Amino acid sequence: MKRGLFITLEGVDGAGKSTHLEWLAGLFRARGHAVRVTREPGGTPLGERLRALLLTEPMHAETEALLMFAARCEHLHALIRPALAAGEVVLCDRFTDASYAYQGGGRGLPAARLAILEDWVHGGLQPDLTLLFDLPEALAQVRRAATRTADRFEREQTDFHARVRAAYLQRAARHPERIRVIDASGSIEAVRAQLEQVLTGWL
Ligand code: ADP
Ligand code: MG
Repeated sequence: MKRGLFITLEGVDGAGKSTHLEWLAGLFRARGHAVRVTREPGGTPLGERLRALLLTEPMHAETEALLMFAARCEHLHALIRPALAAGEVVLCDRFTDASYAYQGGGRGLPAARLAILEDWVHGGLQPDLTLLFDLPEALAQVRRAATRTADRFEREQTDFHARVRAAYLQRAARHPERIRVIDASGSIEAVRAQLEQVLTGWL
């Protein structure tokens, strides 16, 4: 079966994922690809309702992980798999690496627990490419502060975000064939130049 391309964007809040998402979509559209831009948690009507809860409602770390994967399950069934089957390029703002980083690294849930949910929900599907926007937490904090009101994750302390970043980098070290680390500390132009480099061969 013809299959599209599944690309995920990862990184701590304020790393620049949203800033580059539409630009990336434009790169693929300019080459004639049908592109679907989506996000997690969210991406479906149910997923967006779960997102609203996840970003505001206090809950146990295990509940949080289960809701993340519930939203992801719906996303995969309703949007991601059908779009890939139709040959589309799916650009997704956060995916399962974020669960390992936030619910694993940040909240301290064992990676083995998350792996059980990953096996169940993914059914073997993995992103073809993951762009990990990496930058020091101090800089991410400055960028976040400049623009928005913090959600339940963004209100966490500096050490939480430092653990999230470390867990992301650990994922990248474990899956070097899939996850490409982008130095997100430079200017928007400098980040774009790296993205163009990494995407050579995928476009
Ligand atoms: P994310 O989606 O990863 O949380 P955003 O794309 O929303 O991050 O970026 C957070 C803030 O930082 C935004 O105000 C954005 O304009 C700004 N920003 C993003 N990338 C850069 C950059 N390379 N240099 C300076 N500011 C940036
Ligand atoms: Mg964003």
